Amino acid sequence: MDCLFCKIVSGEIPSTKVYEDDKVLAFRDIAPQAPVHVLVIPKKHISGWYDAKDESDELLAHLMRAAALVAEKEGLVEGGFRIVSNCGEDADQTVKHLHLHVLGGRKLSSEMA
Ligand code: AMP
Repeated sequence: MDCLFCKIVSGEIPSTKVYEDDKVLAFRDIAPQAPVHVLVIPKKHISGWYDAKDESDELLAHLMRAAALVAEKEGLVEGGFRIVSNCGEDADQTVKHLHLHVLGGRKLSSEMA
């Protein structure tokens, strides 16, 4: 499958890893929008939230917990952080492999959209 994030999982495309376990991978965003900008992805290809079925429940919970762990590892717990996930065209999802953005390290805008 021609998927950028699958290629990052396989190591075909390099990334700066922040956290990894058997189910998820976290790596630094190539175009950071905050001092800390990490992407957390399932290793298994899921194209977006609409593609996540019942059998993915455990994996999705694990993904959220991994994002919180990344925030802790990056020293964001005290100052706070934001977890964002874009889905589909109107949200500007550019990579069709489910991912969470973990953002922090500065005061973030209070605008949600
Ligand atoms: P989204 O627009 O929500 O689909 O997010 C995709 C993110 O992937 C963007 O923030 C990009 O900067 C990021 N990105 C694209 N290519 C790479 C790459 N090779 N390594 C790390 N991050 C990437």
